[in-house]
Amino acid sequence: MLKNSTIMPDTSLKIIPRDHHAVSRRLISPSALKVMQRLHDNGFQAFLVGGGVRDILLNQQPKDFDIATNAHPEQVHALFRNSRLIGRRFKLVHILFGRETIEVATFRGSADEGSEKQSEHGMLLRDNVYGNIEEDAVRRDFTINALYYSPKDFNVYDYVDSLKDIQQRQIRLIGDPETRYREDPVRMLRALRFAAKLDFTIAPETRQPIFELAPLLGHISSARLFDEVLKLFLSGQAVTLFRELRQFNIFEQLFPSVHHTLLHDPNKNFYVQLIEQGLKNTDERIRVEKPVTPAFLYATLLWPEVDRLWAQFQADGMPEFPALQNASQLALSHQVKHIAIPKRFTLMMKEIWEYQIRLKKIQGKRPLQLIEEPRFRAAYDFLLLREAAGENCQGLGKWWTNFQIKHPAPIPRRFNRESPAPAFDPEKKAPPKRRRRAKRI
Ligand code: ATP
Ligand code: MG
Repeated sequence: MLKNSTIMPDTSLKIIPRDHHAVSRRLISPSALKVMQRLHDNGFQAFLVGGGVRDILLNQQPKDFDIATNAHPEQVHALFRNSRLIGRRFKLVHILFGRETIEVATFRGSADEGSEKQSEHGMLLRDNVYGNIEEDAVRRDFTINALYYSPKDFNVYDYVDSLKDIQQRQIRLIGDPETRYREDPVRMLRALRFAAKLDFTIAPETRQPIFELAPLLGHISSARLFDEVLKLFLSGQAVTLFRELRQFNIFEQLFPSVHHTLLHDPNKNFYVQLIEQGLKNTDERIRVEKPVTPAFLYATLLWPEVDRLWAQFQADGMPEFPALQNASQLALSHQVKHIAIPKRFTLMMKEIWEYQIRLKKIQGKRPLQLIEEPRFRAAYDFLLLREAAGENCQGLGKWWTNFQIKHPAPIPRRFNRESPAPAFDPEKKAPPKRRRRAKRI
């Protein structure tokens, strides 16, 4: 079983028996156990792998449970009616149990030269050559993600000295770091994310190539980058990661125009402050398990560019409102080339920005109409953010805070689910007077 092919890094298997590790079935999702049981019953191997094992060993709650098997994707799909085949570059099966998805991946093999498809930059375009568990272990990204737990014999299988790195709290790429980053540049984002999330250090050989290889992220599809960047900013460590992305020359690959503004604009300090304050609020919301909308997050990240262009268009003689609309449009059209922000979010971002003008109209009946509108909450929070970062908005934030105390508005349900952290929460104040429906007896 432990054959060593020439193109595989050396592995030495360590088997950790049940009474020497913390993984137990009690800590694993019943759905994941069910999936592994059915695979076993049908003669296949099945292991819990990745974040599920890693997080349990670190005494943390796993975000999701990933399974590795020797069954091919079509075979897994045939065993589960509630499953679907996904991915092209990397075929997987998702098995759906209500809101939970169990991801099942077939062991990847150490392909012979030429049997996997690579781009001219060394990027893996397809990775569907199957193998055994040992080959699979060395195709995983970091050592800490390559531990396998078997619910059949209760052992943990460690092929690449994973436990040592978990104990030393280190993120280490398996194999030659430069090759592995070239195969999949997203691993650079994953290295930073795991380091921040787990409070681990990145081993020097894994850390060093990132500075130079960051431009390879330009070859990743904008749709994949939307998902991966969102994971970074929703990890609960957004402030740390924002600083690190800049330090590792990655931010400029993901947000080139904003990067330029943060370096060269006269208001650059204010803009950095605004982003960091926004990300700090996001981290806090994640900590207390409140929902966060990507629209508010991206509205914050792109504001430096929108605000700069807005000022520029006005200086060129354009009136305030069309200047802001043009600025929003231009900033977004540049940004979506790099990160494909879905339209439902870009529409909301534009509204949040446009409200920054509408919130200034505080005469007559306008404010009463505004607070009823679904975007009011996010726009108001955005105004508070600008003020918290040091912008002088002539006390407008405070004005709106007082106005809401005097006129608590019912909060539309749809909006409630997605709105970002309110600095002022009308839900906690006296409820608005509403006519009650007659009780049904
Ligand atoms: P979490 O789910 O907490 O974000 P995770 O480690 O489980 O962390 P997933 O994205 O769920 O990450 O991936 C599951 C496993 O698949 C990883 O632990 C790793 O072994 C492997 N993996 C994921 N992405 C890559 C990649 N780009 N290159 C190599 N292996 C990967
Ligand atoms: Mg996972």
